Amino acid sequence: MPHPFSRIAPLMLYIHWPFCAAKCHYCDFVAMQDHHNFARQYHEALCNEIRSFVASRPHTFGAPIKTIFLGGGTPSLYPLPLLKELFSLLRSLFDLSNTEEISLEVNPGGQTDDHFGTWRDVGINRLSVGVQVLDDAILAKLNRPQKKAEVLEFFERAPHFISNLSADCIIGLPGVDDVCWRDTVETTLSWPLKHTSLYFLTIHENTPLYHGVKAGTITIPRDEQVLAQYAWTVQRYAQAGLAQYEISNFAVPGFESIHNRGYWDRTSYYGFGIGAASYDGTYRCANKKKLTGYLQHFSTPTAEVKTWYGSIEKLTHEQKILEELMLGLRQRTGVGLHRMVYLCPLAQSQPFGEVRDRLVAEGYLEASETHIRLTPKGQIFENEVVVQLSGGLEGDHSNCERPKD
Ligand code: SF4
Repeated sequence: MPHPFSRIAPLMLYIHWPFCAAKCHYCDFVAMQDHHNFARQYHEALCNEIRSFVASRPHTFGAPIKTIFLGGGTPSLYPLPLLKELFSLLRSLFDLSNTEEISLEVNPGGQTDDHFGTWRDVGINRLSVGVQVLDDAILAKLNRPQKKAEVLEFFERAPHFISNLSADCIIGLPGVDDVCWRDTVETTLSWPLKHTSLYFLTIHENTPLYHGVKAGTITIPRDEQVLAQYAWTVQRYAQAGLAQYEISNFAVPGFESIHNRGYWDRTSYYGFGIGAASYDGTYRCANKKKLTGYLQHFSTPTAEVKTWYGSIEKLTHEQKILEELMLGLRQRTGVGLHRMVYLCPLAQSQPFGEVRDRLVAEGYLEASETHIRLTPKGQIFENEVVVQLSGGLEGDHSNCERPKD
Protein backbone atom coordinates (compact mmCIF):
# COMPACT_ATOMS: atom_id res chain seq x y z
CA MET A 1 0.00 0.00 0.00
CA PRO A 2 1.46 3.41 -0.87
CA HIS A 3 2.52 5.33 2.15
CA PRO A 4 0.13 8.21 2.97
CA PHE A 5 3.01 10.68 2.69
CA SER A 6 4.54 9.29 -0.45
CA ARG A 7 3.58 12.44 -2.34
CA ILE A 8 6.43 14.29 -0.62
CA ALA A 9 9.45 14.70 -2.91
CA PRO A 10 11.97 12.07 -1.82
CA LEU A 11 14.49 13.44 0.67
CA MET A 12 18.28 13.37 0.63
CA LEU A 13 19.87 12.79 4.04
CA TYR A 14 23.47 13.27 5.16
CA ILE A 15 24.68 11.69 8.41
CA HIS A 16 28.01 12.72 9.90
CA TRP A 17 30.25 10.40 11.92
CA PRO A 18 33.16 12.54 13.18
CA PHE A 19 35.58 9.98 14.62
CA CYS A 20 38.77 8.84 12.87
CA ALA A 21 41.62 6.49 13.69
CA ALA A 22 43.97 9.47 13.35
CA LYS A 23 43.71 13.04 12.16
CA CYS A 24 45.36 13.38 8.75
CA HIS A 25 47.63 16.39 8.50
CA TYR A 26 45.84 17.88 5.50
CA CYS A 27 42.31 17.49 6.87
CA ASP A 28 40.03 20.33 7.89
CA PHE A 29 36.83 18.29 8.11
CA VAL A 30 34.86 18.02 11.32
CA ALA A 31 36.85 14.99 12.40
CA MET A 32 38.67 13.96 15.55
CA GLN A 33 40.86 11.16 16.78
CA ASP A 34 40.90 9.51 20.24
CA HIS A 35 37.20 10.12 20.84
CA HIS A 36 35.86 6.62 20.26
CA ASN A 37 34.59 6.44 23.85
CA PHE A 38 31.91 8.86 22.76
CA ALA A 39 30.61 6.55 20.02
CA ARG A 40 27.48 5.37 21.82
CA GLN A 41 26.63 8.81 23.20
CA TYR A 42 27.14 10.39 19.79
CA HIS A 43 25.01 7.74 18.09
CA GLU A 44 22.20 8.38 20.58
CA ALA A 45 22.45 12.15 20.06
CA LEU A 46 22.31 11.61 16.28
CA CYS A 47 19.17 9.49 16.66
CA ASN A 48 17.62 12.16 18.88
CA GLU A 49 18.44 14.86 16.34
CA ILE A 50 16.74 12.82 13.61
CA ARG A 51 13.68 12.29 15.84
CA SER A 52 13.58 16.00 16.57
CA PHE A 53 13.79 16.78 12.82
CA VAL A 54 10.69 14.69 12.14
CA ALA A 55 8.92 16.24 15.15
CA SER A 56 9.64 19.69 13.75
CA ARG A 57 8.33 18.74 10.28
CA PRO A 58 5.54 16.21 10.89
CA HIS A 59 4.91 15.99 7.13
CA THR A 60 8.28 14.25 6.76
CA PHE A 61 7.14 11.31 8.88
CA GLY A 62 7.06 8.35 6.51
CA ALA A 63 8.51 10.43 3.66
CA PRO A 64 10.37 8.53 0.95
CA ILE A 65 14.14 8.80 1.09
CA LYS A 66 16.01 9.12 -2.20
CA THR A 67 19.59 8.93 -0.93
CA ILE A 68 21.53 8.67 2.31
CA PHE A 69 25.19 9.55 2.58
CA LEU A 70 27.15 8.51 5.68
CA GLY A 71 30.20 10.77 5.70
CA GLY A 72 32.79 11.90 8.14
CA GLY A 73 35.17 11.56 9.77
CA THR A 74 35.32 7.84 9.23
CA PRO A 75 31.80 6.40 9.27
CA SER A 76 33.17 2.94 8.46
CA LEU A 77 34.13 3.00 12.17
CA TYR A 78 30.43 3.26 13.15
CA PRO A 79 30.07 0.30 15.56
CA LEU A 80 27.97 -2.31 13.78
CA PRO A 81 25.29 -2.84 16.50
CA LEU A 82 24.77 0.92 16.64
CA LEU A 83 24.63 1.18 12.86
CA LYS A 84 21.84 -1.41 12.88
CA GLU A 85 19.99 0.68 15.47
CA LEU A 86 20.43 3.79 13.33
CA PHE A 87 18.89 2.10 10.30
CA SER A 88 16.03 0.67 12.39
CA LEU A 89 15.27 4.21 13.49
CA LEU A 90 15.47 5.56 9.93
CA ARG A 91 13.10 2.81 8.74
CA SER A 92 10.65 3.60 11.55
CA LEU A 93 10.56 7.30 10.62
CA PHE A 94 10.93 7.27 6.83
CA ASP A 95 10.16 5.10 3.84
CA LEU A 96 13.38 3.50 2.58
CA SER A 97 11.67 0.99 0.33
CA ASN A 98 12.68 2.83 -2.87
CA THR A 99 15.87 4.50 -1.71
CA GLU A 100 18.17 4.63 -4.70
CA GLU A 101 21.55 5.05 -3.07
CA ILE A 102 22.97 4.62 0.43
CA SER A 103 26.68 5.49 0.47
CA LEU A 104 29.20 4.86 3.19
CA GLU A 105 32.62 6.51 3.28
CA VAL A 106 35.21 3.90 4.15
CA ASN A 107 38.85 3.98 5.17
CA PRO A 108 40.27 0.55 4.38
CA GLY A 109 41.85 -1.43 7.18
CA GLY A 110 40.47 -3.80 9.79
CA GLN A 111 37.23 -4.72 8.02
CA THR A 112 35.90 -8.24 8.51
CA ASP A 113 33.17 -10.08 6.63
CA ASP A 114 30.89 -8.98 9.45
CA HIS A 115 31.43 -5.35 8.43
CA PHE A 116 30.72 -5.95 4.77
CA GLY A 117 27.72 -8.19 5.56
CA THR A 118 26.20 -5.74 8.04
CA TRP A 119 26.68 -2.77 5.73
CA ARG A 120 24.95 -4.66 2.93
CA ASP A 121 22.18 -5.93 5.21
CA VAL A 122 21.27 -2.48 6.57
CA GLY A 123 20.90 -1.31 2.97
CA ILE A 124 24.23 0.35 2.16
CA ASN A 125 24.72 -0.18 -1.57
CA ARG A 126 27.69 2.03 -2.38
CA LEU A 127 31.13 2.35 -0.76
CA SER A 128 33.20 5.47 -1.26
CA VAL A 129 36.70 4.39 -0.34
CA GLY A 130 39.49 6.73 0.74
CA VAL A 131 42.55 5.58 -1.19
CA GLN A 132 44.37 8.94 -1.59
CA VAL A 133 47.69 7.50 -2.85
CA LEU A 134 49.14 4.00 -2.62
CA ASP A 135 52.35 4.72 -0.75
CA ASP A 136 52.68 3.83 2.93
CA ALA A 137 55.60 6.15 3.65
CA ILE A 138 53.92 9.20 2.10
CA LEU A 139 50.68 8.56 3.98
CA ALA A 140 52.52 7.91 7.25
CA LYS A 141 54.18 11.33 6.98
CA LEU A 142 50.68 12.79 6.65
CA ASN A 143 49.58 10.90 9.78
CA ARG A 144 47.29 8.61 7.82
CA PRO A 145 47.81 5.10 9.17
CA GLN A 146 46.71 3.32 6.00
CA LYS A 147 48.70 0.56 4.35
CA LYS A 148 48.66 -0.27 0.66
CA ALA A 149 48.27 -3.96 1.53
CA GLU A 150 45.06 -3.18 3.46
CA VAL A 151 43.65 -1.25 0.52
CA LEU A 152 44.44 -4.08 -1.88
CA GLU A 153 42.82 -6.60 0.45
CA PHE A 154 39.78 -4.37 0.81
CA PHE A 155 39.18 -4.23 -2.92
CA GLU A 156 39.53 -7.99 -3.16
CA ARG A 157 36.85 -8.66 -0.56
CA ALA A 158 34.40 -5.78 -0.87
CA PRO A 159 32.98 -6.73 -4.31
CA HIS A 160 31.70 -10.03 -2.85
CA PHE A 161 29.28 -7.97 -0.78
CA ILE A 162 28.75 -4.57 -2.42
CA SER A 163 29.48 -4.01 -6.09
CA ASN A 164 29.10 -0.23 -6.41
CA LEU A 165 32.58 0.88 -5.40
CA SER A 166 34.19 4.29 -5.67
CA ALA A 167 37.84 5.18 -4.98
CA ASP A 168 38.79 8.66 -3.76
CA CYS A 169 42.31 9.83 -4.63
CA ILE A 170 44.17 13.06 -3.88
CA ILE A 171 46.47 14.51 -6.49
CA GLY A 172 49.37 16.75 -5.47
CA LEU A 173 50.29 15.24 -2.09
CA PRO A 174 53.86 15.98 -0.93
CA GLY A 175 56.35 13.34 -2.02
CA VAL A 176 54.23 11.92 -4.86
CA ASP A 177 56.26 11.75 -8.07
CA ASP A 178 55.04 10.60 -11.48
CA VAL A 179 56.02 6.97 -10.85
CA CYS A 180 54.12 6.81 -7.56
CA TRP A 181 51.08 8.55 -9.01
CA ARG A 182 50.91 6.37 -12.12
CA ASP A 183 51.24 3.28 -9.96
CA THR A 184 48.30 4.48 -7.85
CA VAL A 185 46.12 5.16 -10.89
CA GLU A 186 46.99 1.90 -12.67
CA THR A 187 46.36 -0.11 -9.51
CA THR A 188 42.99 1.52 -8.89
CA LEU A 189 42.04 0.77 -12.49
CA SER A 190 42.73 -2.91 -11.87
CA TRP A 191 39.83 -2.96 -9.36
CA PRO A 192 36.18 -3.39 -10.36
CA LEU A 193 35.42 0.29 -9.79
CA LYS A 194 32.23 1.99 -10.88
CA HIS A 195 33.37 5.46 -9.86
CA THR A 196 36.40 7.52 -8.91
CA SER A 197 36.82 10.93 -7.32
CA LEU A 198 39.99 12.84 -7.98
CA TYR A 199 40.61 15.79 -5.71
CA PHE A 200 43.42 18.33 -5.88
CA LEU A 201 45.20 18.71 -2.56
CA THR A 202 43.95 21.80 -0.77
CA ILE A 203 46.18 23.28 1.89
CA HIS A 204 43.79 24.42 4.59
CA GLU A 205 44.88 27.02 7.07
CA ASN A 206 45.80 25.80 10.52
CA THR A 207 46.40 22.22 9.51
CA PRO A 208 49.81 20.63 10.24
CA LEU A 209 50.36 20.50 6.46
CA TYR A 210 49.80 24.25 6.18
CA HIS A 211 52.31 24.96 8.94
CA GLY A 212 54.83 22.53 7.42
CA VAL A 213 54.60 24.14 3.99
CA LYS A 214 54.80 27.61 5.51
CA ALA A 215 57.87 26.68 7.54
CA GLY A 216 59.50 25.07 4.50
CA THR A 217 59.73 21.62 6.11
CA ILE A 218 57.24 20.16 3.60
CA THR A 219 57.50 20.67 -0.14
CA ILE A 220 54.50 20.18 -2.35
CA PRO A 221 54.81 19.24 -6.03
CA ARG A 222 54.98 22.03 -8.61
CA ASP A 223 51.70 23.12 -10.21
CA GLU A 224 52.87 22.13 -13.72
CA GLN A 225 53.69 18.61 -12.53
CA VAL A 226 50.31 18.24 -10.83
CA LEU A 227 48.41 19.56 -13.86
CA ALA A 228 50.29 17.14 -16.13
CA GLN A 229 49.45 14.25 -13.77
CA TYR A 230 45.82 15.37 -13.76
CA ALA A 231 45.62 15.52 -17.58
CA TRP A 232 47.21 12.07 -17.85
CA THR A 233 44.83 10.65 -15.23
CA VAL A 234 41.70 12.01 -16.89
CA GLN A 235 42.82 10.39 -20.14
CA ARG A 236 43.57 7.04 -18.44
CA TYR A 237 40.20 7.05 -16.71
CA ALA A 238 38.47 7.73 -20.04
CA GLN A 239 40.34 4.82 -21.67
CA ALA A 240 39.21 2.61 -18.78
CA GLY A 241 35.55 3.56 -19.26
CA LEU A 242 35.28 6.06 -16.41
CA ALA A 243 33.67 9.11 -17.98
CA GLN A 244 34.17 12.51 -16.40
CA TYR A 245 30.76 13.83 -15.36
CA GLU A 246 31.95 16.48 -12.92
CA ILE A 247 35.29 18.25 -12.52
CA SER A 248 36.43 15.82 -9.80
CA ASN A 249 34.25 12.81 -10.52
CA PHE A 250 34.31 9.98 -13.04
CA ALA A 251 31.97 7.03 -13.46
CA VAL A 252 31.00 4.09 -15.56
CA PRO A 253 27.88 5.54 -17.24
CA GLY A 254 24.88 4.92 -14.99
CA PHE A 255 26.97 4.89 -11.80
CA GLU A 256 27.28 8.64 -11.21
CA SER A 257 26.75 9.51 -7.53
CA ILE A 258 23.05 10.28 -7.15
CA HIS A 259 23.54 11.99 -3.81
CA ASN A 260 26.34 14.28 -4.95
CA ARG A 261 24.46 15.09 -8.13
CA GLY A 262 21.67 16.30 -5.87
CA TYR A 263 24.10 18.79 -4.28
CA TRP A 264 25.29 20.03 -7.66
CA ASP A 265 21.70 20.39 -8.89
CA ARG A 266 20.91 22.40 -5.75
CA THR A 267 18.32 19.94 -4.49
CA SER A 268 17.24 20.12 -0.83
CA TYR A 269 19.13 17.96 1.64
CA TYR A 270 19.11 17.52 5.40
CA GLY A 271 22.23 16.88 7.45
CA PHE A 272 22.56 15.38 10.93
CA GLY A 273 25.52 15.35 13.29
CA ILE A 274 28.11 17.94 14.25
CA GLY A 275 28.98 20.35 11.47
CA ALA A 276 26.40 18.84 9.10
CA ALA A 277 24.82 21.22 6.58
CA SER A 278 21.22 21.37 5.34
CA TYR A 279 19.54 23.24 2.49
CA ASP A 280 15.84 23.51 1.91
CA GLY A 281 15.83 25.57 -1.28
CA THR A 282 15.74 28.85 0.63
CA TYR A 283 17.84 28.53 3.76
CA ARG A 284 21.25 26.97 4.23
CA CYS A 285 22.14 25.95 7.78
CA ALA A 286 25.11 24.24 9.32
CA ASN A 287 25.19 22.56 12.69
CA LYS A 288 27.67 23.71 15.31
CA LYS A 289 30.83 21.64 15.44
CA LYS A 290 31.32 21.23 19.18
CA LEU A 291 31.01 17.61 20.22
CA THR A 292 30.28 18.05 23.92
CA GLY A 293 27.61 20.67 23.29
CA TYR A 294 25.95 18.44 20.70
CA LEU A 295 25.94 15.44 23.06
CA GLN A 296 24.35 17.54 25.77
CA HIS A 297 21.84 19.24 23.47
CA PHE A 298 20.50 15.96 22.05
CA SER A 299 21.04 13.83 25.14
CA THR A 300 17.44 12.68 25.53
CA PRO A 301 14.85 11.37 23.07
CA THR A 302 12.24 14.02 22.68
CA ALA A 303 9.37 15.04 20.50
CA GLU A 304 10.41 18.59 21.29
CA VAL A 305 11.74 20.62 18.36
CA LYS A 306 15.44 21.30 18.76
CA THR A 307 18.04 22.65 16.39
CA TRP A 308 21.78 22.95 16.74
CA TYR A 309 22.57 25.50 14.06
CA GLY A 310 25.87 27.32 14.15
CA SER A 311 24.94 29.28 11.05
CA ILE A 312 21.79 29.91 9.09
CA GLU A 313 21.48 32.08 6.01
CA LYS A 314 18.72 32.87 3.58
CA LEU A 315 20.21 32.67 0.12
CA THR A 316 19.80 35.84 -1.89
CA HIS A 317 18.72 35.71 -5.49
CA GLU A 318 22.28 36.62 -6.59
CA GLN A 319 23.74 33.79 -4.48
CA LYS A 320 21.38 31.31 -6.09
CA ILE A 321 22.40 32.45 -9.59
CA LEU A 322 26.07 32.22 -8.68
CA GLU A 323 25.59 28.70 -7.27
CA GLU A 324 23.65 27.66 -10.34
CA LEU A 325 26.57 28.74 -12.52
CA MET A 326 29.30 27.33 -10.27
CA LEU A 327 27.70 23.96 -9.61
CA GLY A 328 26.31 23.61 -13.14
CA LEU A 329 29.62 24.33 -14.79
CA ARG A 330 31.38 21.74 -12.64
CA GLN A 331 29.22 19.10 -14.34
CA ARG A 332 29.84 17.70 -17.78
CA THR A 333 26.22 18.37 -18.72
CA GLY A 334 26.85 22.03 -17.92
CA VAL A 335 24.35 24.75 -17.10
CA GLY A 336 20.89 24.33 -18.59
CA LEU A 337 19.95 27.59 -20.29
CA HIS A 338 16.21 27.12 -19.81
CA ARG A 339 16.69 26.61 -16.10
CA MET A 340 19.01 29.59 -15.98
CA VAL A 341 16.49 31.83 -17.74
CA TYR A 342 13.76 30.57 -15.42
CA LEU A 343 15.91 31.58 -12.46
CA CYS A 344 17.09 34.84 -14.01
CA PRO A 345 15.58 36.30 -17.21
CA LEU A 346 18.78 38.37 -17.63
CA ALA A 347 20.37 35.17 -18.95
CA GLN A 348 18.58 36.07 -22.20
CA SER A 349 20.05 39.56 -22.24
CA GLN A 350 22.59 40.87 -24.69
CA PRO A 351 25.38 41.44 -22.10
CA PHE A 352 25.16 37.83 -20.93
CA GLY A 353 25.14 36.60 -24.54
CA GLU A 354 28.21 38.67 -25.34
CA VAL A 355 30.19 37.31 -22.37
CA ARG A 356 29.13 33.76 -23.26
CA ASP A 357 30.14 34.18 -26.93
CA ARG A 358 33.50 35.69 -25.98
CA LEU A 359 34.27 32.80 -23.58
CA VAL A 360 33.32 30.36 -26.34
CA ALA A 361 35.59 32.17 -28.85
CA GLU A 362 38.47 32.12 -26.34
CA GLY A 363 38.08 28.37 -25.82
CA TYR A 364 36.80 28.35 -22.23
CA LEU A 365 33.20 27.35 -22.95
CA GLU A 366 31.22 25.17 -25.32
CA ALA A 367 27.67 26.25 -26.06
CA SER A 368 24.75 24.36 -27.54
CA GLU A 369 21.13 25.41 -28.02
CA THR A 370 20.32 24.24 -24.52
CA HIS A 371 23.50 24.24 -22.41
CA ILE A 372 26.82 25.91 -21.77
CA ARG A 373 29.69 23.82 -20.43
CA LEU A 374 33.38 24.18 -19.67
CA THR A 375 36.05 23.01 -22.10
CA PRO A 376 39.13 21.28 -20.61
CA LYS A 377 40.86 24.69 -20.69
CA GLY A 378 37.82 26.25 -18.99
CA GLN A 379 37.94 23.65 -16.21
CA ILE A 380 41.32 24.94 -15.10
CA PHE A 381 39.96 28.52 -14.95
CA GLU A 382 36.50 27.63 -13.66
CA ASN A 383 36.33 30.38 -11.02
CA GLU A 384 37.27 33.09 -13.51
CA VAL A 385 34.69 31.84 -16.03
CA VAL A 386 31.97 31.95 -13.36
CA VAL A 387 32.95 35.49 -12.35
CA GLN A 388 32.80 36.66 -15.97
CA LEU A 389 29.46 35.00 -16.68
CA SER A 390 27.88 36.37 -13.54
CA GLY A 391 29.19 39.81 -14.57
CA GLY A 392 27.00 39.44 -17.67
CA LEU A 393 23.97 39.08 -15.40
CA GLU A 394 24.40 42.37 -13.58
CA GLY A 395 21.41 44.68 -13.77
CA ASP A 396 17.86 44.98 -12.56
CA HIS A 397 16.83 41.69 -10.95
CA SER A 398 13.33 42.81 -9.93
CA ASN A 399 11.82 40.64 -12.69
CA CYS A 400 13.68 37.65 -11.31
CA GLU A 401 11.67 37.62 -8.13
CA ARG A 402 8.65 35.85 -9.64
CA PRO A 403 10.08 32.59 -10.87
CA LYS A 404 11.30 30.92 -7.73
CA ASP A 405 13.37 27.78 -7.95
S1 SF4 B 1 40.32 10.01 7.71
FE1 SF4 B 1 39.32 11.57 6.45
S2 SF4 B 1 38.05 12.76 7.87
FE2 SF4 B 1 39.48 11.54 9.11
S3 SF4 B 1 41.18 12.92 9.48
FE3 SF4 B 1 41.72 11.75 7.65
S4 SF4 B 1 40.96 12.99 5.93
FE4 SF4 B 1 40.02 13.79 7.80
